[in-house]
Amino acid sequence: METQTIRVRETNCYLVRDGERAVLIDPGPPGGAAKVTVALTAAGVRPEDIRLILITHGHLDHYGATPEVKTWCGAPVAAYLSEPAFSQDRRNALPPAQTLQGSVVRWFYLLFSPWVRFAPLQADLLLDEGTDLAMYGLRGTTVLLPGHSPGSLGVFTAEGDLFVGDLFVNYTVPSQPIYLSDRRAWQQSFERARALRPRMVYVGHGEPFPGSELDHIYPARYQLRWWVR
Ligand SMILES: [Zn+2]
Repeated sequence: METQTIRVRETNCYLVRDGERAVLIDPGPPGGAAKVTVALTAAGVRPEDIRLILITHGHLDHYGATPEVKTWCGAPVAAYLSEPAFSQDRRNALPPAQTLQGSVVRWFYLLFSPWVRFAPLQADLLLDEGTDLAMYGLRGTTVLLPGHSPGSLGVFTAEGDLFVGDLFVNYTVPSQPIYLSDRRAWQQSFERARALRPRMVYVGHGEPFPGSELDHIYPARYQLRWWVR
């Protein structure tokens, strides 16, 4: 299998490809669909090659481009069972922050959220954890990794790569995200991710990092960029 990153603004969209079949993980923010489809076409991916669009969690910067990307390729959209319902409340887009700076951002967000243009996540398939993705061309299974959002769904491939959504971010160093819906759940998911002993960890924001770095995940305050989700 082959992994390709398409970066749209601050978000990583991942193409995981096995021959002519491919799964797209997180199409990215609203307005980013053209960048994704142009990059896919340039990589020689035909619309019909995409067998599944998998959304790691119900935050707009990860799923916002989904309707247009789905129109282009026709693939079903999948997410964890509870995540489409979670995304219907726009206030959930920024869970409580782990830093003062993050909290200030969140207060402003909550203040202005009623006027933020927004559409909730629409999924065709609701996936539980442990779902085998082989029928979509990805040799691997889903892993539930709550904490950043309650229904964050990761993918662990047969080759040892772990796609985690925003369980971690890696702008400067592999770190805890600033925003967590549940700190204890995050800690458990972190330990679960580490126990998988992945070869590489692919994050929603920043650079992928080797699984060995899971022994040194830094607290949220180590992030220098405050708009991290
Ligand atoms: Zn997020």
